Amino acid sequence: MVKPTEVKNKAQQIAEQNYKFRAFLKSCTHDDKLDAQFLELHEGLFADYDCCKCNNCCKSYNIILDSGEVKRLSEFIGLAEGVFAAEYLIDADPEDEKPFKFKANPCAFLNDDGRCLIQNCKPEVCTGFPYTDQPHRLSRMYSVIEHAEVCPVVYEILERLKVMYRFRK
Ligand code: SF4
Ligand code: SF4
Repeated sequence: MVKPTEVKNKAQQIAEQNYKFRAFLKSCTHDDKLDAQFLELHEGLFADYDCCKCNNCCKSYNIILDSGEVKRLSEFIGLAEGVFAAEYLIDADPEDEKPFKFKANPCAFLNDDGRCLIQNCKPEVCTGFPYTDQPHRLSRMYSVIEHAEVCPVVYEILERLKVMYRFRK
């Protein structure tokens, strides 16, 4: 598996190849087949991977939240919602279904040992990332390729899929 510190460089070096692989997949597979392959690789690789030794996602994105998540999180931390918002949030796109964003990057809730301090209450986007176990990967390949610059597991999934599909690099 590529090291978390090297994944951005390595993925950028093969970005062109990854976009060609996307086009190749569009021509030779279908949603259900690819989703099942993604899911199997996702489960197998994450079963053996310690995310606490990576945390690239917690260091790379400003996490977005909806108002329900802001309410739950401020209660979990024990702060009034306004105080919590002033301390931890910036406004994102008000039109977005998740119109709030964590201010700090790396995330303020990332512990020194790589653990999430709000593990039991973390936002949906944290729980879901990198979405490689979710359906419709074929139509989301652009974001999969973007996530391969952050997440070593996504990078590895793409490399294994290239082998499975006998994609000529
Ligand atoms: S809330 Fe937790 S999982 Fe989400 S970015 Fe922050 S530290 Fe990472
Ligand atoms: S989900 Fe990916 S980027 Fe996030 S900590 Fe785990 S391996 Fe790293």
